[in-house]
Amino acid sequence: MSDCVFCKIIAKQIPAQIVFENESIIAFLDINPVHPGHTLVLPKTHVESFTDLPSEICGGVGATAQKLMKVFIEKMGYEGANLIQNNGAAAGQVVPHVHFHVIPRKKGDGLVHWPGRGYENGQEAMTGAQVRSALSEF
Ligand code: 5GP
Ligand code: ZN
Repeated sequence: MSDCVFCKIIAKQIPAQIVFENESIIAFLDINPVHPGHTLVLPKTHVESFTDLPSEICGGVGATAQKLMKVFIEKMGYEGANLIQNNGAAAGQVVPHVHFHVIPRKKGDGLVHWPGRGYENGQEAMTGAQVRSALSEF
């Protein structure tokens, strides 16, 4: 897509630190990292939402993210990592080209977890039933 910043990186029209690419997937450093090495993994095809990502590309994206995570932990001295995908503006997606953040982590690095809110009486079982029913009909 012509006005998509990630498509421009894929087309080498704007610079980025590309750490991996093949015919369908690219990985490059996030310009505004949590830690040095924070990497974005994405399909080269312009797809806005994870829900539109062809399932045959999902595996390759996941395998690339997993390999990067292993490198951060086993080769680069990090103690953990997050794999995050913000999907839709309500979930914090800013760039509308689906991408996965692989974020290397260290204990006490200041990045806070989302707040857990718990369930009210009976709500957990009811929600489980709703999700199971929706899945079975999908
Ligand atoms: P989102 O909130 O959409 O999940 O994350 C978008 C990410 O893209 C942000 O972390 C942001 O720093 C990164 N980003 C935005 N523009 C550019 C760019 O031009 N180059 C690179 N390398 N990263 C970018
Ligand atoms: Zn794009």
